[in-house]
Amino acid sequence: MATGKVITSVAGASAADVNNAVNAAEKAFKTSWGLKVPGAQRGRLISKFADLLEKHQDELCALEALNVGTRFDERYWHVQILRWMGDKIHAKTVETTDKKMAYTRHEPYGIVGGIVPWNFPLLMASWKLGPALATGNTIILKPSEMTPLTALRIADLFNEAGFPPGVVNITNGYGATTGDAIAEHPKIQKVAFTGSTLTGRKILKASAETNLKVVTLELGGKSPTIIFDDADLEQTLKRAAGGIFTNMGQSCVAASRIFVQESIYPAFLEKFIALAKHLTDNTGSPFDPNTRHGPQISETQFNRVMGFINSGKQEGAKVAIGGERHEQEGYFIKPTVFTDVDSKMSIMQDEIFGPVCSVVKFKTEEEVLEVANDVAYGLGANVFTENASRAIRVAHALEAGSVWVNCAQALEMNMPFGGYKQSGIGRDLGQYALDMYTQVKAVHINI
Ligand code: NAD
Repeated sequence: MATGKVITSVAGASAADVNNAVNAAEKAFKTSWGLKVPGAQRGRLISKFADLLEKHQDELCALEALNVGTRFDERYWHVQILRWMGDKIHAKTVETTDKKMAYTRHEPYGIVGGIVPWNFPLLMASWKLGPALATGNTIILKPSEMTPLTALRIADLFNEAGFPPGVVNITNGYGATTGDAIAEHPKIQKVAFTGSTLTGRKILKASAETNLKVVTLELGGKSPTIIFDDADLEQTLKRAAGGIFTNMGQSCVAASRIFVQESIYPAFLEKFIALAKHLTDNTGSPFDPNTRHGPQISETQFNRVMGFINSGKQEGAKVAIGGERHEQEGYFIKPTVFTDVDSKMSIMQDEIFGPVCSVVKFKTEEEVLEVANDVAYGLGANVFTENASRAIRVAHALEAGSVWVNCAQALEMNMPFGGYKQSGIGRDLGQYALDMYTQVKAVHINI
């Protein structure tokens, strides 16, 4: 936990355990799930499970506060996602004549592997569980080794909701053992992965070298926030700060590059630093209701983020605020703002995954678009302007899977979410996600 103390220890699944889970999932798929159960019935069970998640949300959120360091009263929307997915099964007929008919069936893959990260454990799990189960797949879910607790608890709730045994299999464990066993298993037909770009490459490679399983990847990001001089400054300040400091910067869409048009740059910077100071002054335990800024999840992540801060300093960037650990006991880092950066610096190119950003001055729309797109990632981007034509023009020119205009990180469960470039392959959320969990069969019949 945040202070470095051990909460508990949890058993890790070996390759043999994963194999047992796959056998259970296969049996369940063939006998009591998949195409044996109407979509509406699956939807009813998912909805019952969502009700149980809601009923136990205080306990689940406290577990995540212990495990991740997010505030104990933070409520994410995993419940709503599961309800939404459980309700959206369909079929399509595409062609009929007097002599012939043809139709398509959207069939589940069978056994799906879901591998998720630690930054929003329940939310990320629900992004995989919802569409996999709604479309009739059985699932082997592997949470991050750093956040096993809520996944273990929801295993009980799946039983309580009445899911047949083997439909949902939670396998805790390390990436190199449990994760690898899932990525390489010949009976798993699809892996839905959320995590780093580095691990995403390994999953793709494992698929290529085993059974060519379908792989969807939700990977890292280096999102820009672009603020034009006609933006509503007060609203923009709060949203730009939320865009980077939410969850202590441990978000795939963390907007760690903030571009501000030159005429408002001094005023923006002064107020932005004041906001960062407010967070610094209200740093503490995730169980304290006054806390506005918490810890990094682990010593490893703490050291990684501090490494980026040191590299920024060494490369000549100026620390406007923060740039050091917080005096609280544990892995706390002060919200950090760099200025005087160059776009080739590591802090401007690499995903930091911590409360660290750079505030950069720009002159023109063309100039800022070029720098904003000049990274390997393409997950999200935020644009602030009151000029509607410019907002649309810039949204279209940005190389990112999601663009938010006059808001930041505003995900909707019925809109697709995913990455351009090295931020991923495929989409989570919405109908697009459901499509990613089915394969299409064309049936042609002569009448
Ligand atoms: P990670 O890649 O280290 O781990 C993610 C998961 O993969 C964990 O469950 C881990 O155990 C597993 N894993 C690790 N090595 C593996 C291997 N060889 N085979 C199979 N599985 C393996 O990522 P993380 O540190 O847990 O999470 C942070 C990363 O996740 C960041 O890069 C962040 O941007 C990304 N992320 C992306 C999204 C998105 O939707 N695009 C959302 C949240 C987080």
